[in-house]
Amino acid sequence: MQSKPNRFIPYGRHQVDEDDIAAVVDVLRSDWLTTGPKVAAFERAFADFVGAGQGTAVNSGTAALHAAVYAAGIGEGDEVIVPAITFAATANVVVHQGGRPVFADVHPDTLLISPADAERRITPRTKAIIPVDYAGQPCDYDALRDIASRHDLTLISDACHSLGAEYKGRKAGTIGDLTVFSFHPVKHVTTGEGGMGVTDSPEFTEKMRRFRNHGINADHHQRGENLTWQYEITDIGYNYRISDIQCALGLSQLKGLPARISRRREIAARYDEAFAKLPGVSPLACSPDVFHVYHLYVIRLDLSALKVSRERIFSNLRHAGIGVNVHYLPVYLHPFYRDRFGYQRGECPAAEAAYEEILSLPIFPGMGDEDVAEVVRVVSGNL
Ligand SMILES: *Cc1c(COP(=O)(O)O)cnc(C)c1O
Repeated sequence: MQSKPNRFIPYGRHQVDEDDIAAVVDVLRSDWLTTGPKVAAFERAFADFVGAGQGTAVNSGTAALHAAVYAAGIGEGDEVIVPAITFAATANVVVHQGGRPVFADVHPDTLLISPADAERRITPRTKAIIPVDYAGQPCDYDALRDIASRHDLTLISDACHSLGAEYKGRKAGTIGDLTVFSFHPVKHVTTGEGGMGVTDSPEFTEKMRRFRNHGINADHHQRGENLTWQYEITDIGYNYRISDIQCALGLSQLKGLPARISRRREIAARYDEAFAKLPGVSPLACSPDVFHVYHLYVIRLDLSALKVSRERIFSNLRHAGIGVNVHYLPVYLHPFYRDRFGYQRGECPAAEAAYEEILSLPIFPGMGDEDVAEVVRVVSGNL
């Protein structure tokens, strides 16, 4: 019989302080609960933080990805290259627009998209590439930009893991033609649910803003200024609007972001040090070109050297109160992708091999040093 642990350390957790709570309460007492001043203020502050021209705030990271794919003009029959290892939303939004996600394999040491494999999969139908900064580490953007330029593709960066990260001194949010962030509670900034698309292109911004509001060509502020009730639906869109309640939380959360990133990096450094000495386990590699913000801390198990299976280790850790997880099954192995697009095992061998061996360990800013030590102790004791 295994005894129940007296507490559980989750793999991720939000951090909300008293200032965040006060900011939300202020909005509840104001005239605007949605489409008010906090939305525009959050868009401006966020775009400034990442160094982008404009931001478009929406009600999830998935909505931001969808709006970005729409703005890039992805439609029926278009192909978009995405990494095999990502959260499914990266590929799902291509399907929503009638396109076909084409999966590229990943580097086994970082699980970031392999630019060479991505380039091999380009066809005359390919319109865009969506690299994902997996775990908080930016992709090899010099190579990806070169490929995008040579093949005339839009580069949409899925930076849902990498708010605050840098590639060769350039911040996530300044590298892709469009860059997308999520404000789900496990991410670096939370609005409960929420997301943001940033870009330097006023044309992309105009399209994303129209898309989040049913495809309507003017918002209520513009109609008010022009003294008219008239508007036109110029293309089909959605209600992807985010509320002022959420944006007030986001604005407040931005202030604590640098400190939360530092804490994540400290925890990662402690794990790195501990696991360097532990046979059978290796952390994913970190490129010297990047500033990694550790949305996830992923270890890879050397199962040939260990006597236990990943399933056994996973369940032992969960029973011991350690909230391990696995990010992610290669997206094309989900039944929907097999059935709709005919994908099969073997499509991306490095991703499939990695999937069998990875574990995400708890990492979040409120995690204490004693929690980190506990995770290391329990992992070491269960190999
Ligand atoms: C979280 C996440 C998303 C989607 O964000 P939501 O806000 O949950 O809709 C998309 N891509 C990646 C890589 C993510 O981690």
